[in-house]
Amino acid sequence: MNLLLLTPDDCPEPGLARLTGRRLKHVQEVHRAKAGDTLRLGMLGGLMGTGEIVSLSRDELVLRPVLDTAPPEKLPLTLLLSLPRPKMLKRILQTVAAMGVSRLVLMNSYRVEKSFWDSPWLEPDAVREQLVLGLEQSRDTVLPEVLIEPLFKPFVEDRLSMLCRNSRCYVAHPGAEVHCPVALNQPLTLAIGPEGGFIPYEIEKLVEAGFEAVHLGPRILRVETAVTALVARLYV
Ligand code: SAM
Repeated sequence: MNLLLLTPDDCPEPGLARLTGRRLKHVQEVHRAKAGDTLRLGMLGGLMGTGEIVSLSRDELVLRPVLDTAPPEKLPLTLLLSLPRPKMLKRILQTVAAMGVSRLVLMNSYRVEKSFWDSPWLEPDAVREQLVLGLEQSRDTVLPEVLIEPLFKPFVEDRLSMLCRNSRCYVAHPGAEVHCPVALNQPLTLAIGPEGGFIPYEIEKLVEAGFEAVHLGPRILRVETAVTALVARLYV
């Protein structure tokens, strides 16, 4: 954790933040901090800065926050991700938040196992918890927007054009003829498939919707590796 993220609930009196639970434990066990030390802080959805430790006990950490710095700019990227298996979803949510993706759409596709949609890790609080871990890792305060699209066809036919307007659109597909471009640094919509890949029908539908299929070379990457590799390649 490279930034302690606060919420307004942590600040019942003006000028002080009171933390318990996971963040208290982290400051005690990892930072091994003491009263008088200064920690990096951010307000969820707001500014970042520092906080002097006023007191630290087994039960509570009290800080005096000074928040005066804007968080880093988000990447102008909408990531369409076929819903990964729950264990991988947790890690990908952290990565997506840490890399600064603006919007994540978790969508269905043919090779997504039906049972993944029943995972408790898709509950809004569970998703938010993983995103917060990613923000704390990378020093950001702004959560990405997360949309859930459990039906591929109506999503692609009825809603996708609104989501990807004014952006260039790519679908990462190992069979594609075109190599993925580098350092575009502009508004993009990027689709990444499930572990089994997109089926030809889905690639056709995405191409109809204005997506270009691109590959990343001959090595087939795991979804979580492909997310990192593609985002790092498209934005430098
Ligand atoms: N057998 C599957 C196929 O051929 O599509 C492999 C799927 S791969 C494990 C999961 C997803 O990661 C793919 O659908 C694609 O979006 C992305 N991906 C992984 N490696 C890639 C590569 N070399 N080029 C393009 N996309 C890749």
